[in-house]
Amino acid sequence: MFCEVYLLDTPYHIDRPFDYSCAPGLIPGSIVRVPFGRSGRTRLGVVTKVKESCEIPEGVTVKGVAGTVSPVFTLTEEMLGLCFFLKEFTLCTFGEAVRTILPPGAFSDILNVRYRRTARLILSKEAVATLLSATGRSGIKSEGQRQVLRFLMDIGSSDFEVLKQLPTVTTAHINALRDKGVIAIDEDEEIRNPYSEYAKARDTSEIILSTAQMKAYDTIESLYSEDKPRAALLYGITGSGKTKVIMKAIDRTIADGKSVIMLVPEIALTPQTVSIFCSRYGERVAVIHSSLSQGERLDAWRRIRRGDVDLVIGTRSAIFAPLNNIGMIVIDEEHEHTYKSESDPKYHARDVASYRCGKHNALMLLASATPAVESFYKARTGVYTLVPLRERYGGASLPKAVIVDMREELRLGNPSPISQRLYNMLLDVKENENQAILFLNRRGYSSHISCKECGEVLECPRCSVSLTYHSVGGQSSLHCHMCGYRSPSPRACPSCSAEALSFLGFGTQKLESEMSKYLPEMTLMRMDADTTTGKLAYDRMLDDFRQGRADILLGTQMVAKGHDFPRVTLVGVALADTSLHVSDFRAAERTFSLLTQVIGRAGRATEDGVAVIQTFQPTNETIRLACRQDYDSFYEGEIALRRELSYPPFCDMVQLTLTADDEGELTRAADELSSIVKAKLEGEYSRLPFVVYGPFEAQIYKLNEKYRMRMMVKCKLNSISRRMFSEILCEFAKNRQVTLAVDLNPLTV
Ligand code: ADP
Ligand code: ZN
Repeated sequence: MFCEVYLLDTPYHIDRPFDYSCAPGLIPGSIVRVPFGRSGRTRLGVVTKVKESCEIPEGVTVKGVAGTVSPVFTLTEEMLGLCFFLKEFTLCTFGEAVRTILPPGAFSDILNVRYRRTARLILSKEAVATLLSATGRSGIKSEGQRQVLRFLMDIGSSDFEVLKQLPTVTTAHINALRDKGVIAIDEDEEIRNPYSEYAKARDTSEIILSTAQMKAYDTIESLYSEDKPRAALLYGITGSGKTKVIMKAIDRTIADGKSVIMLVPEIALTPQTVSIFCSRYGERVAVIHSSLSQGERLDAWRRIRRGDVDLVIGTRSAIFAPLNNIGMIVIDEEHEHTYKSESDPKYHARDVASYRCGKHNALMLLASATPAVESFYKARTGVYTLVPLRERYGGASLPKAVIVDMREELRLGNPSPISQRLYNMLLDVKENENQAILFLNRRGYSSHISCKECGEVLECPRCSVSLTYHSVGGQSSLHCHMCGYRSPSPRACPSCSAEALSFLGFGTQKLESEMSKYLPEMTLMRMDADTTTGKLAYDRMLDDFRQGRADILLGTQMVAKGHDFPRVTLVGVALADTSLHVSDFRAAERTFSLLTQVIGRAGRATEDGVAVIQTFQPTNETIRLACRQDYDSFYEGEIALRRELSYPPFCDMVQLTLTADDEGELTRAADELSSIVKAKLEGEYSRLPFVVYGPFEAQIYKLNEKYRMRMMVKCKLNSISRRMFSEILCEFAKNRQVTLAVDLNPLTV
């Protein structure tokens, strides 16, 4: 027999199957060790095909498979298909796809398995009782053995370790009983489920939906029942209760004997969310996210593979959960950029979901209050079924949002980052014993330090970005938010030595210190990447705030998403302009979505909520529409612009990035890339419509000591254009000083 094997670690340009001879019985999907190259060193690979014969060129001997790796991780037919899908649609290697689909650690030889041993009686209780009372040779005289038997008579079976805790019992006693054929010791893989505590508080209550929610649910239910690949967009305003509708749909799917994957953005995976789902679906839930240990991930994967799980909740990579019989895949907050992977394979979870729903005849359910423009376009054009939910649950009204013109504040002589209006409203919150959220999308103290004498801007020595000044508890330092570089804060300008450094652009730390100056009577909690470094810090802070341990929660987008704080009646956006001026065509979309989510945090319970939006551009259309929570109008404007300027969804975008240590090599490579692309477009691919931009310097030209240049191609992605980019990658592989990365439809450009 012969088989075709893809190696796990191989560069893109030689990523193809190699023939090996093998013993009968090997199946596609097996992970094997094969000799490769002149040295014959063995390497890991995946069998993609088994065949009777293979064409062998004269004088060549086909090598044999050296061995197979644990069958636990053998890829199913669906998973193999998924690897080919990822390879074709993201231009990664087959091995990169395999490594993404299997849990990390799947290839290590020490498989991190712990065995649990259970002892149980084999003889009937009567027979054991006879043994215990018998005297002479047939009786059991050892006190240790007798204790074990008495214990097992009571409970039937017991953990090996528990038996060993009995007063006079040793391992030898237990083994002796096994050798006599009285008890058996079973070994079982011990599989850890760090969330099993949550499963204990069972919630079996029926979900009672409002009329509007019921209508949305009915649409989803009927799509589900078609038992065909279907996709729906649950477009519900903030506070409309999308979660309950989703839960009802999950109930329905599981009751039908099928399984569900529910993706959430990293930030939404708080103990609150997890406990709600675990208490509802018990031990048959697996939770997958990036801060699980390797062992925990492996265990979750095994539980799913064994069929012990109906519901997988997790972040992006959970989309590969090895479930059989998927009935529905939910992507909550589907507009979030964390669903797109930035390393190979550069896949979008939505595309993988759509592929898997196709294979399983399942429903893909996207949910958001501010869907990605691409998704809403698909809903409008009938590719997805649009399921709107236009009112807040329980009659709560949308927060009233007021815009404050910060230019006017300056004119009136208020230099602080808090306007008079916001200040007064914060005092009201305190008086009424409510809570407020204050949002600023910039961490650190000052984001920009420059010298008033010579104009020097303090930049990171490793990146072409300005350093951020951090000041916490009297300790000050400069940080690079791109590469993590840190240095002490200088007194004088490093260029001209003048003591004339000025600190511009305020971040969360400065806002915190200003607040304690102006509103000392209010307690404040700051939540950003700098205060939530511990594993549980983030969860603890959210919990403390919910318990009322602070009046104000101040922070970056971490405070904006998905949380439900019933006592929050005021939301302040310190500066709405921060994300507007990024030169990305999605800047408006991102700003709109972020502002809508933050504003939506206010007044979710009975109290009416108010949001105050501070800005230097009070007439900006995106800000105005976000204040009105008017996604429909925002979408209309945005889609018209995208159509006019040819941006997605009206075309696809492909980003080619060159990275090098040396600027000279980089420039030469950029010229070379440019001529390769040109030759293709004027030659073999001249029939394809393309617009090519660049090469140009990446927005952050130098990143962690490496220089980057880009080209951008607008085109229509299909098998032909993908083949062209694949060829470009292969041709470029010859260049060893410069690496080329291709990103099909990147989320940030
Ligand atoms: P969304 O995610 O759409 O912004 P949530 O799911 O957070 O909204 O719902 C807002 C609040 O209303 C939550 O506190 C939720 O528990 C409550 N809620 C929504 N629908 C129901 C329902 N059918 N029954 C009970 N409570 C509900
Ligand atoms: Zn840096």
